[in-house]
Amino acid sequence: MDTPILGIDLGTTNSLVAYWQDGKAQLVKNALGSVLTPSVVSVDDDGSILVGAAARERLISHPQATAASFKRYMGSSKRYRLGRRHEFSPEELSALVLGSLKADAEAAFGARVTDAVITVPAYFNDTQRKATRHAAELAGLNVRRLLNEPTAAAMAYGLHQGDGDRKFLVLDLGGGTFDVTLLDMFSGIMEVRASAGDNMLGGEDFTELLIRGFGSAHPKADLAGVQGPLYAAAERAKQALNSGDADMQLTVGGETLNWHITGADWEQRCAPLLERCRTPIEQTLRDAGVRAASLDDIILVGGATRMGILRKAMARLFGRFPTTGLNPDETIAIGAAIQAGLVAQDQALEEVVMTDVAPYSLGVETSIQTSEQHYESGVFSPIIERNTVIPVSRMETYYPIQNNQEALLFKIYQGEARLVRDNIYLGEINIPLPDYRDPEQMPAEVRFTYDVSGLLEVDVHLPADGSTHQLTIHNSGVNLDAAALQAAHEKLAKLKIHPRDQAENRTLLARAERLYTQRLGEDRQYIGQRIAIFTAALNSQDERLIREAAQEMQEFLQHMDDDFWQ
Ligand code: AMP
Repeated sequence: MDTPILGIDLGTTNSLVAYWQDGKAQLVKNALGSVLTPSVVSVDDDGSILVGAAARERLISHPQATAASFKRYMGSSKRYRLGRRHEFSPEELSALVLGSLKADAEAAFGARVTDAVITVPAYFNDTQRKATRHAAELAGLNVRRLLNEPTAAAMAYGLHQGDGDRKFLVLDLGGGTFDVTLLDMFSGIMEVRASAGDNMLGGEDFTELLIRGFGSAHPKADLAGVQGPLYAAAERAKQALNSGDADMQLTVGGETLNWHITGADWEQRCAPLLERCRTPIEQTLRDAGVRAASLDDIILVGGATRMGILRKAMARLFGRFPTTGLNPDETIAIGAAIQAGLVAQDQALEEVVMTDVAPYSLGVETSIQTSEQHYESGVFSPIIERNTVIPVSRMETYYPIQNNQEALLFKIYQGEARLVRDNIYLGEINIPLPDYRDPEQMPAEVRFTYDVSGLLEVDVHLPADGSTHQLTIHNSGVNLDAAALQAAHEKLAKLKIHPRDQAENRTLLARAERLYTQRLGEDRQYIGQRIAIFTAALNSQDERLIREAAQEMQEFLQHMDDDFWQ
């Protein structure tokens, strides 16, 4: 059997990998038997790398050596210093997560896998998409397609529905991003009509509200040293609030502090965040020219749509209950696997055609003449407009402003603002001009080509001398050249990554260490003893001993720990 193309949901909080086989999408389990791998990376005390559940436990016990939610900073210059020796970019951390998913898939197939479809938020810009590609490359994966997350969700949903003409809105609230997509489905053809989003709004912002609320309720408490437990307590309270009032509890300096929060208070605190959800919803409907009442369905995906207040707010906004039939954690990975099946031209999916749109307007900076002598500079001239169906290639012609100008500088931006200073700079291209007299004789044809993965290519053609120039984007450090990519490869190759077959024991140990940080007194002593015994068993390398110790540790943890992290 050929190894299939992987469908990967590289999430802010959790990542999943699936594939298309025997006419359906199948999720791959990791070494711990779960389909969810936390998108968390930690550096162990001996300098080796942990990814997934074990790393997530260490967010609490070793916050300085652990990184999470790095997807929010993809393509930025942010660096994570983990432990004393290691520094990572968000792409490198994502590569470690992708590498872990790849290893799980390889263990499932018993063969090497090389190709993947990876999902990204519809609102990821060009830089963030390129960063995602780099991350995959660093993990040894060849990206066959970047797929917008809501599109993936819609594919999972659409295929469950059979034929018929339908319009539906996908609302995807994950850990760190909110995406809205309007889809049209008719006779097996799915079309993305419009999409918008807010890539700084997600479930974590709701957790943050509880963290801040707790701080205000206990202004004298010194919370600096208990950030990890504070986050866990907030997360737990957030989930409890789905079914009524909740108590957020935390032990600080030996004292247990409590904050009781009622459902009504919670709703009021969340109102500004819920209100923010409206903006991209309205923009999507406006762009597609569709009235909310004519939607066949509103579909909720992403872990944070489990929040009762969110469901209620959406029901109120649309005047009906949204659909929540699919497992919000798995929907995107399933959609990615369906797309992977399509890419591999699986027979069962031949009839499904998919189109997608450009999430932003893309264009260049120009000057416009305001009077005989005056120009207003810094004006954005869109070439590809937001929500144009992709792939697309569009050309615009521009002229120099002055006689005998020596060069034409095209600065490329994305965004919707009239002035480029309010949009996002992507890069620039400088075109030397031959001698000429009249600007009218020196047209420059600027062609923007936007491919199905949302990557932009810019070509400038000068008919006057027949030259053609291509854009190389010079921005924010993610456009690695071959040498930089090689260096990053070597850096990751040198890392010691805990072997997959140790994942279970590593997670048990990390969980016990986390518990140690959270408890005090006798409990702590007892946990410390258990850790010492378990570590000694691991060091013995005697398989039977390790198995028995792991079993005991598992039972002990089940008894000691509440099952919040499970
Ligand atoms: P995702 O990135 O789609 O996995 O979504 C992760 C976000 O969903 C995080 O902010 C979680 O706190 C949130 N989440 C997951 N389960 C629940 C739940 N039962 N109630 C509230 N929020 C949840």
